[in-house]
Amino acid sequence: MRSEKAFREFAGDLEGAFVSIGSGKRPGRVAVIGAGVLGASVGWNLSRLGAEVVFIDALQPGEGVTSWSFAWVNASNKTVRRSYFALNVAGMAAHRELAAAIGPDSWWYPSGHLRWADDPTVEMKLLQTAELLARWDYRVEVFTGAEARRLEPALTMPSEAPVVFYPDEAWVHGRRLVGRLVGQAVASGAELRSGTAVCDIGTGSDGSVRTVALSDGTRLDVDVVVNAAGPSSADVAALVARQLPMRREPGVVTRIDCAQVPIGRVLHAPHIEIRPDGDASVVLHSREIDALIDKGEETSELARMLLASARNVVAELGNSRIAGTRIAHRPIPADGFPSVGAVPSVPGYYEAVSHSGITLGPVIGRLLAAEIVSGSRDALLADFRPERFPS
Ligand SMILES: Cc1cc2nc3c(=O)[nH]c(=O)nc-3n(C[C@H](O)[C@H](O)[C@H](O)COP(=O)(O)OP(=O)(O)OC[C@H]3O[C@@H](n4cnc5c(N)ncnc54)[C@H](O)[C@@H]3O)c2cc1C
Repeated sequence: MRSEKAFREFAGDLEGAFVSIGSGKRPGRVAVIGAGVLGASVGWNLSRLGAEVVFIDALQPGEGVTSWSFAWVNASNKTVRRSYFALNVAGMAAHRELAAAIGPDSWWYPSGHLRWADDPTVEMKLLQTAELLARWDYRVEVFTGAEARRLEPALTMPSEAPVVFYPDEAWVHGRRLVGRLVGQAVASGAELRSGTAVCDIGTGSDGSVRTVALSDGTRLDVDVVVNAAGPSSADVAALVARQLPMRREPGVVTRIDCAQVPIGRVLHAPHIEIRPDGDASVVLHSREIDALIDKGEETSELARMLLASARNVVAELGNSRIAGTRIAHRPIPADGFPSVGAVPSVPGYYEAVSHSGITLGPVIGRLLAAEIVSGSRDALLADFRPERFPS
């Protein structure tokens, strides 16, 4: 544990963004259950604030949904509620700040995002959304297909079609980001226990969190637990007799190998989403193909369909090889919004459960760590508190 003085200096370093340190109680030992993008972000921030952090993951860090995400950092797809949009805009800013703090290399790709349609109704909706976002001060430009092809010469698209460009959007290499955050936290004293699952959370006579039991037989004394177990969050919540209602929403993601990646940006083309995934790989996803998962289609067939759609937009992907495909479950609380913060009926128990976790990881990590350390509840999270699901 750091000394009180070091703790205050650390907290002061964090751009004064969120903590009223003096008022808070030291959090003691915090078990972060799940080292995906959410757990890694919370744990990294806690570690910077001087907490004693132990990451516990049933797999290896970043191998859950975070590694099988489309991983597009955006707020343009989050207009359903103004407060949710604001949280996602804060998520984008938090990524830029994180890239400055830990270095952007190998995980942060602020390339912008191009979106277009082949159906007049969908096209009108895209343009209406772009207008709305411009009114909300979100940077957006509308190109013709010919102009968009100057940015992305490999694309097949009609020259006159309107193409919406969001220059501040990005994609993230989730597994590498998690590796960086957990690695830095461990280098400054955090502990990592991977390949072992939390199977019990013990509470004291006052109902507060006291211990976690692991599947390898270990029992750890802790003061705080953070439930960042992604799609398994409801199971972890059940360990403190809490019902966290989750929505079932599987998605299929395919990685393809290509000798040269022919695109540089996140693309929402008709029927297919495509993004680079490093120097020799591209990731494909489609909501239309997701809809076939529950109809019993084979995973390999879903991957083949994704690749066929991608070839219609980027012909150069024609010779690519499917490297891997995964059906992953979005970690979405039942009403579609994040569940982040303390659960007052179980002192010491906190949740960090969210879809769009790639976009939101850094901001949720920062706000939740501040709440754990100082008790401060940030207004950005007001609509997303766990209390809306009564225990
Ligand atoms: C198809 C698809 C596309 C997506 N596209 C986007 C996108 O474009 N942009 C975006 O922002 N978001 C997107 N998301 C959502 C985003 O990927 C997730 O919100 C995010 O990755 C969740 O991170 P997490 O840390 O909560 O979960 P995970 O990465 O799954 O991490 C949870 C960890 O908890 C561990 N765990 C579970 N139970 C236990 C236990 N009992 N004990 C110990 N460890 C445990 C698991 O091993 C896992 O490593 C997408 C998701 C899907 C499925």
